[in-house]
Amino acid sequence: MPEAPAAVAPITQDVLTIPRKLPEGGLRNLVGLTRDQLRDALIAAGTPEKQAKMRVGQIWQWIYHWGVRDFAAMTNLAKDYRALLAEHFEISVPEVVTRQVSADGTRKYLLRIAGGHEVEAVYIPEETRGTLCISSQVGCTLNCSFCHTGTQKLVRNLTAAEIVGQVMVARDDLGEWPVPGAPKDETRLVSNVVLMGMGEPLYNFDNVRDAMKVVMDGEGISLSRRRITLSTSGIVPEIARTAEEIGCLLAISFHATTDEVRDRLVPVNKKWNIATLLDALRDYPRLSNSERITFEYVMLKGVNDSDADAKRLVKLIAGIPAKINLIPFNEWPGAPYERSDWERIEAFADIVYKAGYASPIRTPRGEDIMAACGQLKSATERARKSRAEIASEAGL
Ligand code: SAH
Ligand code: SF4
Repeated sequence: MPEAPAAVAPITQDVLTIPRKLPEGGLRNLVGLTRDQLRDALIAAGTPEKQAKMRVGQIWQWIYHWGVRDFAAMTNLAKDYRALLAEHFEISVPEVVTRQVSADGTRKYLLRIAGGHEVEAVYIPEETRGTLCISSQVGCTLNCSFCHTGTQKLVRNLTAAEIVGQVMVARDDLGEWPVPGAPKDETRLVSNVVLMGMGEPLYNFDNVRDAMKVVMDGEGISLSRRRITLSTSGIVPEIARTAEEIGCLLAISFHATTDEVRDRLVPVNKKWNIATLLDALRDYPRLSNSERITFEYVMLKGVNDSDADAKRLVKLIAGIPAKINLIPFNEWPGAPYERSDWERIEAFADIVYKAGYASPIRTPRGEDIMAACGQLKSATERARKSRAEIASEAGL
């Protein structure tokens, strides 16, 4: 391995945090509200308190079970009440700007949200499941040197509505809402959700939590908590809350076995280093073999892919029920790294496997449409970093 240059990348980049513009029409969006928030909103709009619980249940079902966007279609509500709802509220999801379909069936959606900003979501069909990869922020304030999203300067947190909205848009596109009167279809096109798109979900915790509560609610989209995986670069103070308040599965972007290398790859490591992160994971509530933590490990040629790395990795995580997901690096224009050779990835996987850990190699999906892990970045966002900036931040 070449001599590692001193880590120069800042933990967070020079970002422009943009305020969220509120809709001008004054209609409040019902999407993404928790049941309690929905109840309060209905009462404020004139729903008698005594009826509120029932109305929440009815409206919830229309929005999240049937996928209805128009109050007029909510036929079990009185006409006057439907009119009242339409006066105060809307049911709105992000607008699909473009939809690209890869040769392998992966679909990438470019979505426009309030303020004209854009995020991406990716649907990955597999034989036994369909995974929707959603974003939690426009861009990302962290600066991982191998990640395309990290080079985007504009950053804003997504609202819960915009996070749930990504799931709803995918269901729209896949035609997955049930048809009234048709026999119940148990096949799930969106069977899993991963928070692995743009952004650091634990830097937008409350909105991510509220959105996942909506997605998991049994009277709506009804995804089990075990079918949701949140991926984090290692925001230690928020990790325990993920188990306590969301209860979903956890993936950690680990990527290196020494602090010196991880500082360069995942600069937030300078704040919470490997030992601190592993301590938090050892304490992660509910840890068991059926709910293992996934360690994501991007394979970068000559940087983190040696046999010694593989051996250090298994030593570090000893005692944590884990699986190790090896991600062949996905290139993007100006990227300062190369993908490890296939034989290297297999040799690495073998060492990890022999140490007793599942070590699947993630097949890159949708590369032809720049939909693979770490390639997301709304190409139309104007503020971009130059190649030179990216290289200098990576310490190259
Ligand atoms: N911010 C969160 C979630 C989004 S990234 C996180 O970092 O965990 C989802 C996964 O893709 C992370 O493991 C991330 O490190 C990885 N990734 C980023 N850029 C990549 C690239 N160019 N090739 C392969 N994986 C990449
Ligand atoms: Fe942000 Fe995750 Fe990309 Fe790092 S890998 S810059 S945390 S999106």
